[in-house]
Amino acid sequence: MQEKGTLSIHTENIFPIIKKFLYSNHEIFLRELVSNAVDATQKLKSLAAIGEFKGEIGDTRIDITINKNAKTITVSDKGIGMTAEEIKKYINQIAFSGAKEFIEKYKDKDASQQLIGQFGLGFYSAFMVADKVRIITKSWQEEAPAAEWICEGNTEFEIRPAVKKERGTDVILHIASDSEEFLQPYRLREILNKYCKFLPIEVALEGDVINNTQPLWTKNPADLKDEDYLDFYRQLYPLAEDPMFWIHLNVDYPFKLTGILYFPKVKNELISRNKIQLYQKQVFITDEVRDIVPEFLTLLHGVIDSPDIPLNVSRSFLQADSNVKKINSYITRKVAEKLQELFKSDREAYQKKWDGIELFVKFGMITEDKFAEKANAFALLKNVEGKYFTIDEYKDYIKANQTDKDGYLILLYTNNPEKQDVYVQAAQKRGYDVLVLNSVIDSHFAGFLERKLDKAHLKRVDSDTIDKLIEKINKPPVVLSEDEKKSILDLYKKISGKDSVSIEPLSTDELPVSIVLPEFFRRMKEMASIGSAAEYASSLPEQINLVINGNHPLINRLVRTESQEERERIARHTYDIALLAQNMLSGKELTAFLNRSLEWLN
Ligand code: ADP
Repeated sequence: MQEKGTLSIHTENIFPIIKKFLYSNHEIFLRELVSNAVDATQKLKSLAAIGEFKGEIGDTRIDITINKNAKTITVSDKGIGMTAEEIKKYINQIAFSGAKEFIEKYKDKDASQQLIGQFGLGFYSAFMVADKVRIITKSWQEEAPAAEWICEGNTEFEIRPAVKKERGTDVILHIASDSEEFLQPYRLREILNKYCKFLPIEVALEGDVINNTQPLWTKNPADLKDEDYLDFYRQLYPLAEDPMFWIHLNVDYPFKLTGILYFPKVKNELISRNKIQLYQKQVFITDEVRDIVPEFLTLLHGVIDSPDIPLNVSRSFLQADSNVKKINSYITRKVAEKLQELFKSDREAYQKKWDGIELFVKFGMITEDKFAEKANAFALLKNVEGKYFTIDEYKDYIKANQTDKDGYLILLYTNNPEKQDVYVQAAQKRGYDVLVLNSVIDSHFAGFLERKLDKAHLKRVDSDTIDKLIEKINKPPVVLSEDEKKSILDLYKKISGKDSVSIEPLSTDELPVSIVLPEFFRRMKEMASIGSAAEYASSLPEQINLVINGNHPLINRLVRTESQEERERIARHTYDIALLAQNMLSGKELTAFLNRSLEWLN
């Protein structure tokens, strides 16, 4: 008996549309067909488990074979198979309604939209690469005869009896001439390695098994050793340095999620190259998880497997989805708990790892309030002496000496202890503590800390003279008259060619002349430079102030010096010293400075 008919759809020319919409991601046809084969095999196992299927399950390997001469790819499974009736029901109608729904959903949208490639079009994605598809299948129900379905990429199909003794389904793709790359075994292997490496049923390409059916995240954490986690990490990212630690995720309710997240040593960059991989029931879906987990978590590596993340919705729907929100807060909480546990159980060891995780923790604190609350317990500040404090500990540590006349707590920091040593030492001479804040995110983190600590300012040690960094009530008196001040200011304006020159009544132990980079301008510029405004930021001028110490003996000597030549020499030299302290003296000016210094020694 042979039957011919017309596929029951209304959308004309559905195949060209399938091709067009999924153009950028044709390779997923194999993921879809192998996933169907896995499903069919698992359904058979479920039937056996409940006693419906009483026969021998036997070997269930899924085989993918290429016939170069016939230009076909065959995906064969030993799953439940289909009767002719089931083909009509599942392939002709249901699957098509899936495809139609897909097209309805996406017909107005930009085909390059990221999520499209993730949407499973199911069986019909075969037509992205094939101009003719045959299904030869025999149902697990013993009395049902085998059947064959043929469709040539148009709305006509054909069903006829077939000869097939073993239970299961062969899907045979006659590869179209524009898709012949897929007849290359290495190309199929590449696709299988990407999407099918951890499928739960054995899959073989031309006889070679390609997958690990029990990846680590599906196992019980109690049965696993550190070495197992490290091995799995190396399997995921063969070129990466070993991670510092990891979390095994496992939740059943109110959503299902398993996975392993690894903490790599995060260097000074905010984008991770070894991305988190998202799976659904062990099928790889994507490594673009930006919309699925909070942004700071994308710095982590590893695997998340959840069937409860909807993929056939737009980006904004995805972020608003209640499961995605719950998954977000679950992972965020687990990560915070892990860090807290490490901090509590061995603070020493945690501090040693801090440099590798600080960027991650700070990024999380700045962007996720919930994480920030928890991180208060394990976020650290490090000072120039290499001592670590929690934020609360630090507050207590500096409160007595570093509160200014208006009651503000002043946290001093350097982003380069080596280069800012003159300023660091000046601060230390006053008994002030200096933090090291040198990661890319610290200009943002400084603002975060100011908001969090309430009455507090963070100031880089070279952002003002030491007396003004932390203004106390008893200021040193001014010694210069107005006329003297004016002549000194004019002299230094002439020498430096700068306008922003001021005279301050500083302590005699400060430099005669200092160059300061006001905190506000400098930080704004730094913050802009790591965002989308990087180009604009680099066009902003540097704000540099020259401060003359009105109380310094050398400045007093300058006031008393008559010879204009001598005045300019002293001014020049003191200005050069200020430049030198700020690592700004170079070229001809540096050479002249060296020569002048040597002359004076003679
Ligand atoms: P989905 O898998 O999302 O349901 P598909 O278009 O991939 O959609 O498949 C439609 C239906 O066809 C499946 O639900 C299943 O019932 C049937 N089917 C597809 N492939 C196989 C197979 N290899 N073995 C048995 N049934 C299959």
